[in-house]
Amino acid sequence: MYALCDVNSMYASCEKVFDASIRKKPVVVLTNNDGCICAACGIAKQMGIGKKFVPFFEVRDQLEAAGAVIRSSNYELYADLSEKLMAVCSRFAPHHHVYSIDEIFLFYGKTSTYVPPEGWQQHATNIRRTVWKETRLPIGVGMGKTPTLAKAANHAAKRIEGFNGIAVINSESVRKQVLAKMKVGDVWGIGRRIAARLNDMGILNALQLANAKPGIIRKEFSVLVESTVYELNGVVKLNWDEVRAPKKEIYSTRSFGQRIMDAEQLKYALSTHAEIAAAKLRKQNSMAKAMTIFAASSPHDPMGYYRKSIFHHFAAPTNDTRLFMQACSAAMDKIFKDGIRFYRCGVGLLDISDKSNVQFDMFNPTNIDSELMQCMDKINNKYGRGAVHLAGRGIEQKFAMRREFLSPQYTTRARDFPKLWCV
Ligand SMILES: [Mg+2]
Repeated sequence: MYALCDVNSMYASCEKVFDASIRKKPVVVLTNNDGCICAACGIAKQMGIGKKFVPFFEVRDQLEAAGAVIRSSNYELYADLSEKLMAVCSRFAPHHHVYSIDEIFLFYGKTSTYVPPEGWQQHATNIRRTVWKETRLPIGVGMGKTPTLAKAANHAAKRIEGFNGIAVINSESVRKQVLAKMKVGDVWGIGRRIAARLNDMGILNALQLANAKPGIIRKEFSVLVESTVYELNGVVKLNWDEVRAPKKEIYSTRSFGQRIMDAEQLKYALSTHAEIAAAKLRKQNSMAKAMTIFAASSPHDPMGYYRKSIFHHFAAPTNDTRLFMQACSAAMDKIFKDGIRFYRCGVGLLDISDKSNVQFDMFNPTNIDSELMQCMDKINNKYGRGAVHLAGRGIEQKFAMRREFLSPQYTTRARDFPKLWCV
């Protein structure tokens, strides 16, 4: 079973955590330099104000007339509350994956027969209540057999009447009910253009997509869309590292195969995450102006729980892996602590904007998209991730994923080549 926990209007909700006086008011958050609206709370949305990406100056009078509370983006606050959210949620399952600043997947293991003693519905309720109690952030919880179904359930939890923040897809009837009420464009991984083409083929809702023939979908679209069809039917196809990054922030994070107690290995791990996130950032033609770097022990560790996150602001937006790695190195002093058995770490790239809209800093002329990065991406796209990498992430990574059950690498590793004896 997978769960997806997702904060309702994250930025606006974060603004309400420490200022209870605005909890019942419409709150609108502005982007970088107060240019556009980037988030609005539920109350504001209901009032019809706070439409995303509308330039602030155009609606300023309207917002003021409606008594809206206006805030500039406070990424330091959002990143820190995000880390708290992830820490709370990750206590509930043996595995997790941070997908964005306000979304975390939980994974309960491959055995489909496992059910928590309190039942899935109650379990989801417990997560939601605990998060509210400990962070004052309102979340929706969706559960399903695959990440895509968990995402669909989360959509239902928030948008489909009758679910009230929690939806568990654990039967065929609920699966069909949820998918039938969901527009195909709302399915995870189905962008606007693909949705339009699916509509032309007569596929309007998620259930129709689930019932489509995978082979045809693959031929008309791509392997990715085909995977979505399988996932909607309960067959897991997604690999976290290949999951498309959300537009607004990019996270790379992982729990380790074994605990790390060594500063150098932790730095290598963080640098590797910086590298993965940076490549995703460049792939979507974006730049980031801020970064969060975090590491933690396991919440189940008998030695006690430790977590630390560092926020780093860049002088100008960048997409250069080297700068992200430098930030990781600089944060090490504050993050690493002797005697802590580190269990997970990661980075998040925040305050992302499109490369074409970026305003550069005239005092930081070197901080621009470099040919070196393009060259690295080209080589890695051709020969596989990590074919070339910066030395800063280390050559020998002891923290690599636990893969005890891995089959031999018959074709790519001399030691594992099949041997023949001729007698
Ligand atoms: Mg959200």
